[in-house]
Amino acid sequence: MHQLMQRTLLAAALAALAGSFVAAPGALAAAPAVKTPAPGFYRIMVGDFEVTPISDGTVDLPVDQLLHEKPETTRAILEKNFLKAPLETSDNAYLVNTGSKLVLIDSGAGVLFGPTLGKFVNNLRAAGYRPEQVDEIYITHMHGDHVGGLVSNGQRVFPNAIVRAGKADADFWLNKANLDKAPADKKGSFQGAMAAINPYVQAGKFKPIESNGELTPGISALATHGHTPGHTTYVVESRGQKLVLMGDLIHVAAVQFDNPTVTIGFDSDEKAAYASRKKVFDEAARNGTLVAGAHLQFPGVGHIASQGKGYKWIPVNYTQMR
Ligand SMILES: [Zn+2]
Repeated sequence: MHQLMQRTLLAAALAALAGSFVAAPGALAAAPAVKTPAPGFYRIMVGDFEVTPISDGTVDLPVDQLLHEKPETTRAILEKNFLKAPLETSDNAYLVNTGSKLVLIDSGAGVLFGPTLGKFVNNLRAAGYRPEQVDEIYITHMHGDHVGGLVSNGQRVFPNAIVRAGKADADFWLNKANLDKAPADKKGSFQGAMAAINPYVQAGKFKPIESNGELTPGISALATHGHTPGHTTYVVESRGQKLVLMGDLIHVAAVQFDNPTVTIGFDSDEKAAYASRKKVFDEAARNGTLVAGAHLQFPGVGHIASQGKGYKWIPVNYTQMR
């Protein structure tokens, strides 16, 4: 094209653009806010294993009432951390692709805890996976925010998966006699566990974990009872790298890292829950092990350091896959 003609065309184009700006003043600033959340997944590598933390959403918890600490003390600590009660609390699950198996740790709440949770399957799909691809599901414990996502309308969400959980949790939460004798405000926990796990039991797809040790190459179970009778931690290990998925050993980072003796109303056995927390935290701090918690702010992955009589939480550095 002739250079002069090019220049003329360019000038005309610029004039047209300028005209459109004049015609719609302020258009650039008028884009409506999108107001949808970012897809709730993250991705890290642990050795050769791809680990995808997946958010089930968040739920507001009245932690000042739930923690066994003076409510005003809890509220003051939260305020110091730019937080407030009720505390918007993450509910995280973790998908581990070992190369030979796709293993899910916990499943979120499904419909059990209202509309701010139950986002797991959408986020799983956003992360590039489908429920039918999951081979095995290891449940840290049978509270509704960890098992509710196993079912939808009474049907198994993960039709090809074997579900595993600590035997003591199965014996406790799936027992009809325990449901019958539970106080009215505790019955829902038993009903939630039964609704989530029984379809897998009936399909021959539930296998309780009876002892510590390897469940599939690279992932092993470690009993950390206390929060519930069969609460289990899962240790993921590949090429010398380790990630410890510690479920509900901690609920409120702002309070319980600093003072790990503070327990929570959800603990079945507070003394044992504290002892399990201390054992896993001490070991993680000593060895510099990467850990993840179901209720630590998403993606809930980081390191624990010893500090004074307690610990300090150091969230993992952001990484993109490359
Ligand atoms: Zn929980």
